[in-house]
Amino acid sequence: MGARTGVDCVKWEKFDRYEALSSHAADLLLQAVRQNPRTVLGLPTGSTPIGMYRRVAEACAREYHCFRDVRTFNLDEYVGIPLDHPGSYHTFMQQRLFDHVDIRRENVHIPDGSANDPVAECDRYESAIIAAGGIDLMFLGLGRNGHIGFNEPGAPFASRTRMVELTPSTREANARYFEDGFVPTHAITMGISTILDARSIVLLIAGEGKQAAIERLRSGEVGEDFPASALWRHDDVRVLVA
Ligand code: PGA
Repeated sequence: MGARTGVDCVKWEKFDRYEALSSHAADLLLQAVRQNPRTVLGLPTGSTPIGMYRRVAEACAREYHCFRDVRTFNLDEYVGIPLDHPGSYHTFMQQRLFDHVDIRRENVHIPDGSANDPVAECDRYESAIIAAGGIDLMFLGLGRNGHIGFNEPGAPFASRTRMVELTPSTREANARYFEDGFVPTHAITMGISTILDARSIVLLIAGEGKQAAIERLRSGEVGEDFPASALWRHDDVRVLVA
């Protein structure tokens, strides 16, 4: 992070349609891979990045070997469900992206929410990011309550990868992924400080009910009650809004 920080040096891009946002996000991702085939990507789940992943998968069907040396680190994963649960982020990533690109299994990193010792798993995850040389380009979604990853309001800006309890509103928003009605109560998430260590960040904002969060973000007011505001402490952030 350099000296220029704050809302004024963030690049905001507004798109009329979700499809246009997704195309642009996919272009940014693919550009990073073309510039550095060994790039380290930080990846989100949720509804917002689905269009980006679809476009990336389409492009990689045309460009042979495009993900061969890419390394990825996902932001978060639920605790207490098997990795192959239909609602897990392992399953999401497999279906939305990894089944469709030539990434090597050993280059995919997602926190293991089924680990017997979640604390050791969080430490292992932080070490794996460092061993990969850090994250070059981090994509994020925005929660209606301003969360990034599963860093809920009140998460310390100094936080690293750790186990967290999900707020009722986040569990409700994600209940659609759990047909059996049980929504996990805890997750492992990269911390805010882990996210801010990425060299570049792209925040994707789409979906219903986010206007208040967008306005709070635009205000430039920084506080731990609104986790995404920590991004104003980073000097290379783009915000894509549809
Ligand atoms: P969404 O979730 O993309 O499903 O709206 C974003 C988030 O909660 O981070």
